Amino acid sequence: MAVMKVKLYGSEILRKKVAQLEKLPDHFETLIADMYETMNEEKGIGLSANQVGLDMSFFIVDFGLYDEKYGRQIFINPEILEMEGETLDEEGCLSLPGINEKVKRADRIRIKYKDANFTDRDEEYFDYLSRVIQHEFDHLNGIVFTDRISALKRSFIKNKLAALETEAKEIEAEETAA
Ligand SMILES: [Zn+2]
Repeated sequence: MAVMKVKLYGSEILRKKVAQLEKLPDHFETLIADMYETMNEEKGIGLSANQVGLDMSFFIVDFGLYDEKYGRQIFINPEILEMEGETLDEEGCLSLPGINEKVKRADRIRIKYKDANFTDRDEEYFDYLSRVIQHEFDHLNGIVFTDRISALKRSFIKNKLAALETEAKEIEAEETAA
């Protein structure tokens, strides 16, 4: 297993609507294992494929970090069918280290997706789990959580965002040169 590089705010792939999967990608189990290792290393509860540079519609979560009765789960080609209610809570993101902001989210969602066996699922989630899913689902559509705060609040963190963008560009330039 290997820890992967998490793409920072400013990376192009975080602004892309990623491609739907027709089938499970090759070496999917290894990929997922690496993604979980990356997520655990960074103490995250969710990670989307484009956060590790993959143009693929899926994300992983480890709900066990929130409540032991839940576990790890993979959401492929997710589609949110229903959203209801409103909650406000703090979020962070492995692609935006050092930034935490309160974000409005729906309280209840109904989501359709394929699981790790590429089997269709249709489930409801509430509260914090629903929040994590909405955050990851946003990633697959090129949206990051700071897009969902007010312009005023965003102006308070504009230096942090600009610094991340610069860092992301530098990393990409190094990778291209290598
Ligand atoms: Zn995130």
